[in-house]
Amino acid sequence: MKYSRFLHSPKYAFTLVEIMFTVFIIGILLSVAVPNFIQARRQAVRKSCISNLHKIDWAKDAYIMDNHLYLDAEPTPAQLYPDNGTGYLRSVPTCNSGGVYTINPGNQFPVCSNGATEQHIIGGD
Ligand SMILES: [Zn+2]
Repeated sequence: MKYSRFLHSPKYAFTLVEIMFTVFIIGILLSVAVPNFIQARRQAVRKSCISNLHKIDWAKDAYIMDNHLYLDAEPTPAQLYPDNGTGYLRSVPTCNSGGVYTINPGNQFPVCSNGATEQHIIGGD
């Protein structure tokens, strides 16, 4: 009971200025940290998408070489990553920001539908 009296004693309470100063400092720290977290997340999503585009490009090139096709051949998603996991990619690559991939012919890079707005393009970093 002695400890409880110590905590509730007005002599040891925080003043309004101390509390406001603490909230002000926390606010400054959050105003610096939150935009950086958002930026880091956006960059991680972008790099993940670019990595997927490189994988699709590699799988497309491998498919064209294995089947002795011309470079302007455009493999279908079912040829690159069939449902049973036996294709050139084991799983269907998905963009973390909801973009949709277009494979394109072998002489063009694959693209993400968010490429123009979110910089999800090969060579964009
Ligand atoms: Zn994307």
